[in-house]
Amino acid sequence: MSDRVIRVLVVEDNHGDALILRRLLGGGGFHLTAVDRVAKALDCLETGHEIDVILLDVTLPDSRGPELDSLARIQDRAPKVPVILLTGIEDEELAVRAVREGAQDYLIKRQVERDLLVRSIRYAIGRKQAEEELRESEERYALAVRGANDGLWDWRLTTGQIYFSPRWKTMLGLRDEEIREDPEEWLGRVHPDDILAVRGALAAHLEGRTPHFESEHRIRQQDGSYRWVQNRGIAVRDRSGQAYRMAGSQSDITTRKTAEERLQHNALHDALTGLPNRALFLDRLGLAIAHTWRRSDYMFAVFFLDLDRFKNINDSLGHSAGDALLIALSKRLELLLRPGDTVARLGGDEFAILVEDAPAIAEQIAERVVRAFDEPFQMAGRTVYMQLSIGLATAVGNADVSGDELFKRADLAMYSAKRAHVGARTFTPDMRRDATELNLPSQQQKTGRRGGVARIQFLGDLRRAIDERELDLVYQPKFSLATGSAVGVESLIRWPHPEFGLLEPADFLPLVRENGLMEAVTDLVLERAVEDAAGWLDAGIDLPVAINLSAPSLNDETLPARVLSVLAAHGMPPTSLTVEITEDLLLASVVRARTILDRLRESGIRVAIDDFGSGYAAMTYLHELPVDELKLDRQFIAPILHDERAAAIVRSVVELAIEFGLTSVAEGVEDKATAELLKSYGCGFGQGHYFSPPVPAQAIRLGIGLATPDDGPLMPTEATRPSWA
Ligand code: C2E
Ligand code: CA
Ligand code: CA
Repeated sequence: MSDRVIRVLVVEDNHGDALILRRLLGGGGFHLTAVDRVAKALDCLETGHEIDVILLDVTLPDSRGPELDSLARIQDRAPKVPVILLTGIEDEELAVRAVREGAQDYLIKRQVERDLLVRSIRYAIGRKQAEEELRESEERYALAVRGANDGLWDWRLTTGQIYFSPRWKTMLGLRDEEIREDPEEWLGRVHPDDILAVRGALAAHLEGRTPHFESEHRIRQQDGSYRWVQNRGIAVRDRSGQAYRMAGSQSDITTRKTAEERLQHNALHDALTGLPNRALFLDRLGLAIAHTWRRSDYMFAVFFLDLDRFKNINDSLGHSAGDALLIALSKRLELLLRPGDTVARLGGDEFAILVEDAPAIAEQIAERVVRAFDEPFQMAGRTVYMQLSIGLATAVGNADVSGDELFKRADLAMYSAKRAHVGARTFTPDMRRDATELNLPSQQQKTGRRGGVARIQFLGDLRRAIDERELDLVYQPKFSLATGSAVGVESLIRWPHPEFGLLEPADFLPLVRENGLMEAVTDLVLERAVEDAAGWLDAGIDLPVAINLSAPSLNDETLPARVLSVLAAHGMPPTSLTVEITEDLLLASVVRARTILDRLRESGIRVAIDDFGSGYAAMTYLHELPVDELKLDRQFIAPILHDERAAAIVRSVVELAIEFGLTSVAEGVEDKATAELLKSYGCGFGQGHYFSPPVPAQAIRLGIGLATPDDGPLMPTEATRPSWA
């Protein structure tokens, strides 16, 4: 400021006084403009004269009424220009008032000398500027707070007084006068289950053990109901480190919390029947097994239930009748059991029951269940008879067995019962002999027959196919819902089997896993996918490729290096690769898996969670998962058009994804209406038969299936289906 000419506007009707001022400020450093009326001053400010400071005579011919009227008018016009008042007489009271109303200073004309005037001017400019900056920053802060919709609190620890902002109060349905400046007004409203954690977090911060205070807790509103809030705060400390003041904000996270809770419930329950699902069942099974280690006399039984000919019902009466039947049936099952037992729907027409602490009567219970199905169901005015087969497996004290193994045993017993046409059977070791046969789900789907190829021979074929690199990849594009064009592709493995035709992952991946062949398969897939992507790039098609990773790969610390070297070998950047991982993998071997994922991400490779929502409640950890992309499981996408619950779940996941800055991809989009609805939720991307089925690498190279059709699905009809589909 000091090396610049200061532009002064003098508003003074007395020519003599104006002349004195001009003389006092002469000699460089100042540029004066003088006017003799308020109106002229306003004009001058209006016409864009740059003015740094105004010297204003209090009494001017055109100032109206009270003495400070001209000050107000000038400040209205130029709120950012500092004003120094000039008066002929000493009037302490007027001086005070002037300053209160915004004048920077008040000078008596007769007493003014150059030094005083210059100092006053510089001071006025400096102070006005500081005030402006402060006001702006306060305004910015107030706007931010209002935008964030947070309630604020400010706690003087020395006096114990706490200030709550109006928003803080309205958040809880309180009016201003209904609350004292007492921390108990806050802490006393915290939910009893949360209060210890809140006090703990407060103490930790006040004692300097944490950099800030943060806590998510429930708080009671005036009407007695609870809301979820997130509270954040920070203490101000004196030189000795002692906190004397603490301030923070409280934001309402009820919507997010209920979405999370709903998702969590959903992740553990079957959408149709409301019964626990496989994940929850396995969890309870794990607990029961652990229980046998503590109590050697503790026993439990696992039932595996399978409906006979359920497919016929679906086919003859339609899917909604099938659904209604499953619901009626699960009600009947629940009625037969004791409160502590668990009935779960594992999927399709398969159910499981966990009977705790009473294997002695397990067989009786099984018989009871079988007999309960002698009674027919009434469905849509028809009488439907259902039969089911039950397999039992039991565990007693110090059970040295996994949940999976128990499942397998109960499954074997169920098949034995089914084959023998008896209602229920308990597992015995000789049932294993029958298990040398293997089922191929894709074959079963085509032929309607369950079972059998010889396991041994099949495994031999598989080993050879891996060695000879006979496994193939097909690619399914991912589409932007906004632009309708392909933004990447996902590789899916296929095995062209010499005898059984094109086999799908479900036919052989379990065997791959059981026999420790997954790493070899992953290497093969990685190599092939990157090679294909490089080929497309040569043809001018730049699409990142995603590969699916399974459990053992994420336990292998050499993976990141291997991935990067394959990319480098084909001259492809890490950004051209995404890895897809199922959420249970992330939660299972957390530490190792996360280190590996972190390393992949640091190098630029994207990480997606596959089948999001189907597994074990990952949403609760969403904000800390090392991922970029969420793929919403097909089971939630398929029903969104007619099932409000599924729709609500998908919408919440999309919203959470947005909140955490993740991309969301909907899997299994089969029609246009679903795609439109997803788009309206804010979901970014979609994948599924509506856009394109998986196609061979060559098709991608030719650009086939990379644009959304205007008028319908790309899914080939039977007549037009090319040989590779
Ligand atoms: P995923 O990763 O969830 O793959 C999506 C599956 O949904 C694919 O089945 C795909 O063909 C199918 N799909 C896509 N769009 C639609 C649709 O609109 N409707 C219906 N009904 N289905 C659709 P696919 O190829 O049988 O793969 C099954 C699973 O096998 C994959 O599920 C993935 O978890 C696993 N998998 C596939 N390839 C590999 C691989 O190379 N390595 C590993 N470790 N796992 C793989
Ligand atoms: Ca996938
Ligand atoms: Ca998936």
